[in-house]
Amino acid sequence: MFSSQAGGAGEEDKSAKFTGWAAVPGGNGVLQKWSYHPRPLAAEEVEIEISHCGVCGSDIHFSTEGWGPITRPAIPGHEIVGIVVKRGEDASHQIGDRVGVGCLVSCCRGTSVCDWCRKGEDQFCQNKTVTFSSPYKDGRGGISEGGFADRIRVYSDYAFKIPKEISSPEAASFFCAGITTYTPLKRYKAGPNTRLGVIGIGGLGHIALQWAAAMGCREIVAISGRDNKKDEAFRLGATKFINDKEQIKEAARSLDLCLCTNASHNNNWEEYLSMMAPLSQLVLLALPETPITFVGSHLVSQDVAIVGSHLGSKGDIDEMLEFAAKHGIRPWIEKRSFEDCNEAMKDVHAGKPRYRIVLEMNPSSSSTSTS
Ligand SMILES: [Zn+2]
Ligand SMILES: [Zn+2]
Repeated sequence: MFSSQAGGAGEEDKSAKFTGWAAVPGGNGVLQKWSYHPRPLAAEEVEIEISHCGVCGSDIHFSTEGWGPITRPAIPGHEIVGIVVKRGEDASHQIGDRVGVGCLVSCCRGTSVCDWCRKGEDQFCQNKTVTFSSPYKDGRGGISEGGFADRIRVYSDYAFKIPKEISSPEAASFFCAGITTYTPLKRYKAGPNTRLGVIGIGGLGHIALQWAAAMGCREIVAISGRDNKKDEAFRLGATKFINDKEQIKEAARSLDLCLCTNASHNNNWEEYLSMMAPLSQLVLLALPETPITFVGSHLVSQDVAIVGSHLGSKGDIDEMLEFAAKHGIRPWIEKRSFEDCNEAMKDVHAGKPRYRIVLEMNPSSSSTSTS
């Protein structure tokens, strides 16, 4: 077990000590128990006692140093749910509020606000701090620590009140997998005129199918390499399931919008593009491990756009939670104890969960009655 302080030059609150499971330099992705002193609670911040945290592929990419070397212990986790136990005097939540935290914990503060924050697209803020291992740019120093821990302190505008209809373990996955799929469907106006494709039926894809069904998409085509996901895809809202080359051929020029949630090197971009209708968008939600290569003819002849999509704004997160509550949309989850986080990470890496693993601090904290 490491015993160390929060990194960065920020001031620390020595009266508080948070304990979590940290990725360590050269640790091969195996998390170790580690404690740190958080930053002093600012007037606009809340302290959250964490009850649940989802496990996302990004936590694994980071912990295994796939995104570059780790230089100090760092706690991952960015699908966080818990209860507000302390608040600064200007915080927007009250003690006892049940809230969730996603991929960001801070953006522009004070009077100098960037163009993206002004436009309500804070996910592109130049001064943002992501939820773990990210330096704060609010003038107070320090580095963010994530949600595989007992507590976290965040600015209250990045703690989102959870509707009472949604249980805490089910809420967790909305804060990364949920918003990552909700925002592009909204941005590209998925609705009754849309023939939508979803490539990859996993943590992201299984929520995307449910959003699409609630938005009334005309066709919802699940595209998966695994035939054994067919029945579940239909239960999640798919109207069609594609998993071989013959079916891909038959689906030529049939999709108005398609979300690609698959980051594997097995992606066949030519095949995906062949399914795109004129004037359609193929939206990349996961960062592929290998360069994207394709011949441009279909792109040019059909006016197809390949675009990326990164998270969603604060406004979108509130809207998404309301939409999920109203339409009964819930992630399909497996619960594990925080103590078993290493096993959970291995299972996520192997693509085993159906469809998201949520770590749980204390099984009795799962009730919905605390909102
Ligand atoms: Zn994530
Ligand atoms: Zn900003």
